[in-house]
Amino acid sequence: MDQVEEIKSKVDMVELVQEYVPLKRAGRNFKGLCPFHGEKTPSFMVNPELQIFKCFGCNLGGDAYTFLQKIEGMEFGEALQHLADRVGVKLVSYRPTQGEQMKEKLVGINALTGQVYHWLLTEQKTGKEALEYLKQRGLSDEVIKKFNIGFAPDNWDFLFKFLVGKKKYTLDDLTRAGLAVKNYDRFRNRIMFPLTNGRGQIVGYAGRVLPAASAEATASQGGKYVNTPETEIYHKSELLYGLDITRAEIKNAGWAVVVEGEIDAIASWQAGVRNVVAIKGSALTEKQVELLRRICDTIVLALDTDIAGDAAARRGISIADSVGLMVKVINSKSEILNPKHFKDPGDWAVEDPDGWKKAVREAIPVYDFYLQSAVERYGLEVAGKKKIGQELLPVWANISDEIVKAHYIKLLAKTLGVEEEDVRAQMGKVLRAKGQGLSEPWKNM
Ligand SMILES: [Zn+2]
Repeated sequence: MDQVEEIKSKVDMVELVQEYVPLKRAGRNFKGLCPFHGEKTPSFMVNPELQIFKCFGCNLGGDAYTFLQKIEGMEFGEALQHLADRVGVKLVSYRPTQGEQMKEKLVGINALTGQVYHWLLTEQKTGKEALEYLKQRGLSDEVIKKFNIGFAPDNWDFLFKFLVGKKKYTLDDLTRAGLAVKNYDRFRNRIMFPLTNGRGQIVGYAGRVLPAASAEATASQGGKYVNTPETEIYHKSELLYGLDITRAEIKNAGWAVVVEGEIDAIASWQAGVRNVVAIKGSALTEKQVELLRRICDTIVLALDTDIAGDAAARRGISIADSVGLMVKVINSKSEILNPKHFKDPGDWAVEDPDGWKKAVREAIPVYDFYLQSAVERYGLEVAGKKKIGQELLPVWANISDEIVKAHYIKLLAKTLGVEEEDVRAQMGKVLRAKGQGLSEPWKNM
């Protein structure tokens, strides 16, 4: 028996899968919600005798290696190594493919870069201004270390000299890692936030400009944030910032706070709300929703963007709803919860940690938030009621759970002071109009 087979035979498939998907016994098999497609009734089966899985919804199936490759985005070689470690077998014969070797190299380059950037920030004079800025934002030494924050010096060839000159990598390696542009360093004079994959490996960076930099300098150097471009190991839409550190907390809590920026996530973690991730923008992607759905059933959005007026954010919420995630929103406009009117979750969590905890706990369902926001904007005169209906009915129609939908139809009718059947009738009209391609404000949903 070769090692691939030996390792496979030693892995407990049910135990492995259960780290990602809760399973229940069903005869000789185990059953659960498929982690690879959105569903509400389980069609994902694990057979402990054959050590295989199979989803009867999306047809995906295979062995322990396939499972890890799909769920963790691992190459075969990585899955093999991972399972070998897990069952205590020492690999002797496996030769990684060229693609795997390259990925390993890029991960190595990013790791070294992370170390040297962190060292510059925390121990060298060149990082002093950046460190002072982070301290002034209220971040502690502990979180600066925990999240491995660093500093890229104001220098065109610092990394080049270090990685090519000293560590004997090539310019091509640096370019493929996303760290070099043409023949110079991509990140200069920036605070560096390492972006890690689910296994804690650095796959890219978000570089934030120093606040003292002039507007022209910021614009000419790529804006407030410069990120690693898509590479062989970094895919922006598949990453949740902080997840490798916060996953256990999210799993335990059963819910996750979702913020926009790195500093927001770190500040929340520091304030004691540790079940947090950042999505680097206002819109949740399908892949991010999938990652969250595997470990929790509720998400609490604390975005800088006003989600009621942001089509991309609403689309992300709609994706989350469609796979059964409960979506809540922090009510930052509430005078009671946010008397100091913090606009930024990062500042809020640092300056008023108890208030932040309370706001997160008292988040309201997103549909209540939509309704409140529409009433505030349009008022409850007849013309306002009409606009509220136009804005909300297409959203209500999209709610995937019928009971939740019925609840909000009732609430909307009550708020507008009309009969429920009128709301339903108008919803039917809106849907037919949508089908006929008439324009309406929520068409992007
Ligand atoms: Zn499936």
